[in-house]
Amino acid sequence: MILKRTRTLFLTCLLAAWGSSLVGQTPGVADLLNAIRLDTLHSLLRQLTGEEAVMVNDNIATIHSRYFTEPGNELAFQFIKEKMEGYGWDVEVFPFGTGNGKNLICRLPSSTGQAKEVMLGAHYDNMPPGADAPGADDNATGCSALLEVARVLANEDFPFSMTLAFWDEEELGLIGSTQYANYLLANDLALAAYLNLDMLGWDGNGDNQVEVQLRPEAMSAQLASKAVWADSIFDIGLEVVVKLPGVANSDHGPFWANGFTAISLSESYFTDFNPHYHSITDELVHINLPYFEKLTKLALAIFLEFGYEITGATPTVFMPEFQGKLQVFPNPASGISVVFFEGEMKGLNWRLVSGVSGQIALEGSTDLPTFNLDLTGLPAGVYHLICWNENAVMGHQKILKH
Ligand SMILES: [Zn+2]
Repeated sequence: MILKRTRTLFLTCLLAAWGSSLVGQTPGVADLLNAIRLDTLHSLLRQLTGEEAVMVNDNIATIHSRYFTEPGNELAFQFIKEKMEGYGWDVEVFPFGTGNGKNLICRLPSSTGQAKEVMLGAHYDNMPPGADAPGADDNATGCSALLEVARVLANEDFPFSMTLAFWDEEELGLIGSTQYANYLLANDLALAAYLNLDMLGWDGNGDNQVEVQLRPEAMSAQLASKAVWADSIFDIGLEVVVKLPGVANSDHGPFWANGFTAISLSESYFTDFNPHYHSITDELVHINLPYFEKLTKLALAIFLEFGYEITGATPTVFMPEFQGKLQVFPNPASGISVVFFEGEMKGLNWRLVSGVSGQIALEGSTDLPTFNLDLTGLPAGVYHLICWNENAVMGHQKILKH
């Protein structure tokens, strides 16, 4: 993460655990989550922070710092690349810039060659400058989570394409991810969703809170809804706090900037900031391993659940219709959902209509780009939210109350 002085105003949505009466678990996902191993994660953290030697190009070496000018940056890249190849993933080196900046883009070979792609990413470079920079939380955690996900998924086949991306030069201004997101847009390449992992191991106050950074780009609200949903249904034991609008100070930012669906998952930047951030004391000893394991499981669950949802592989999972720049979060929901638009809306009228009876369940008007929809007293079922102003219907979305 890059620390910025300017603070974005944000709206915090604290979301209680959901019931699971209406939608069942996606088959197989729970087993894959159970395959995540804490000892593997711990070992990866030790290797990426220099506490344990690594084998790279058949030589024993130690990664003392992953700062972009340090030899450990290249070592970490090679270490990750060889790990991914060892797990059987196809790897592509994506060089950029005039220096030695390079991303590693890894794909799971699919027997069905699916087009819809979901990407999970983390940066491997770190701070501070100098020969001693363990960067345990920032961002050996994100890289270790990706490598453990890669191991768990290695022999699986999915109806969607899975990509794991390791970014370089995030700390210099999101350079690696910006280059890649720009490349996708310039070449008209589709990406269904990007899930970013940056700093997953600090829980100083022990509250098990995690943050999801969300902005109303493409289907990002649906991806954020998956975080809340997955934490509840797989009983992961975290508390998901969604920041809306979220901060764009990690590798999800360039994906938002290019109009892609994206969120970032992390520890609490706002209420429990890691005091070792960007210092040589960002060491493994300060990592809360059980908390880190839970975040890794949550990331994998979001990744898989969203993939299944967009491919329609699980007909029980609800996929809202989407029109215009209208988004609803969370959806499905049982209590309060936030409705928001990209841009300011003056004199907007809205109406929630029951999909069963056709009756108006709720209605109102607003001058603000966001408003709350309180579903608490309504019967479970499908509803249609319609928003219009004096000129036209501005958006329509299906909402599921459970
Ligand atoms: Zn970072």
